[in-house]
Amino acid sequence: MIDVSAGLSDSIHKQIDASYYPDGWRRYMARAIKEAFPDKIVMTSGNIRNPQSACEILENQDADLIGMGRQTIADPSWPHKVKTGKIDEIRQCISCNIGCAGHRIGLNRPIRCTVNPDVFYDDFYKKQKVNKKTNVVVIGGGTAGLEAACTASEVGCTTFLIEKEKTLGGLARQISQIPEKTRIAHFPKYLEKGAEKLHDLF
Ligand code: SF4
Repeated sequence: MIDVSAGLSDSIHKQIDASYYPDGWRRYMARAIKEAFPDKIVMTSGNIRNPQSACEILENQDADLIGMGRQTIADPSWPHKVKTGKIDEIRQCISCNIGCAGHRIGLNRPIRCTVNPDVFYDDFYKKQKVNKKTNVVVIGGGTAGLEAACTASEVGCTTFLIEKEKTLGGLARQISQIPEKTRIAHFPKYLEKGAEKLHDLF
């Protein structure tokens, strides 16, 4: 099998794909290798976040396998969610590099993820319910407020989220308007969708 990747320390934006590279941007390299070595299984990777991109690469026969790094830190359940059709529950990596590359590699500290509050135990917290009636009021519906409100609701609290603006998502929504930062938009969208499913939240 050949894993076709790219990037050295001097081209770090290609080694740890910059957020502005499209999903599967290395597919043309994998295709060239596949054509040169038709008997080998060829894998591609690079900012592949949504299942549609992955399918399109495979259907187009640019590669035989899809590799994902940061996406599986952001949501280790990606394969399971795709298999069971829970596409809108996928927590996409936003390519910020803060918790994984920055925290783990840069600072040599335990790995973190901006969009996944618990990299090690994922959804395990949902099993730990409050054992008495608890009201929670969260002020501010940015990503931190949404995450806090959803978590409180998921563990059994009666939760109220108060936001003065007409839209949720706070700064993340505004920053995602910058062309190089559009991937960030997925995070507030994902949180908002999750909140909508929690009936006692609004
Ligand atoms: S910290 Fe940022 S770049 Fe790293 S996996 Fe999480 S969302 Fe992706």
